[in-house]
Amino acid sequence: MNKLPDRTVERLSQYRRSLLNCLSKGKTHIFSHEIAGMHHITPVQVRRDIMLIGYTGTLRKGYDVKELIDLIGKILDTPDGQKVAIIGVGNLGQALIQYFSGKRTKLSIVAGFDIHPEKVNRVYAGVPCYHLDQLQDIVKKDDIEIAIITTPAEESPRIAEMCVIAGVKGMLNYTPKSINVPPHVYLEEYDMTTSLEKVAFFVKKNKMM
Ligand code: NAD
Repeated sequence: MNKLPDRTVERLSQYRRSLLNCLSKGKTHIFSHEIAGMHHITPVQVRRDIMLIGYTGTLRKGYDVKELIDLIGKILDTPDGQKVAIIGVGNLGQALIQYFSGKRTKLSIVAGFDIHPEKVNRVYAGVPCYHLDQLQDIVKKDDIEIAIITTPAEESPRIAEMCVIAGVKGMLNYTPKSINVPPHVYLEEYDMTTSLEKVAFFVKKNKMM
């Protein structure tokens, strides 16, 4: 499990969502080429990812959907779930709280943090918003492992530092400013502008062909 490549971990999460959808429609078995088709990748890639977690299907029926979902769950989830905090309860922070509200049992947003007097001490979709000054205490009290940073960009380096000191183990930075974390903290950065510009570039390129 320690040797799973980052991209495989991402794809396993994506496979699980598609597999859950298939299961809800009554599908019990699935072939690698069907999973590949749903994710626009090759069947070889799918088989490689699934082999890496030690699972194999049968030639005749493919993979057992339920078994595969359960196995991916064992790899990705922790038995008791993981707690997440949102730092910066503005437009994006509130949208994320709403989106994840009641959705996943193993990953739950349990706290928000902000500095604006109108946000602090309010509850957003069942999630209390605390003042940033309370970060360390609440992270410890609620056993929060993951922080999502949705503050203005210039605040993110300071927020990241505070999260590290508070004992957060992983961060997802949505701000356009890159942050530094020590090696024991896992960092993922998502820059929407880069993604959008990439799409725009390929739209332009395809128009020229
Ligand atoms: P916003 O202004 O609506 O929200 C920012 C929130 O952070 C506010 O509630 C503010 O009070 C709070 N804040 C400010 N300083 C803080 C601090 N030191 N500690 C804690 N909270 C603090 O902004 P937004 O639109 O939600 O965007 C948030 C971040 O996400 C920005 O960096 C933005 O570039 C990025 N982003 C936003 C979107 C989007 O669709 N809104 C998309 C991609 C990236």
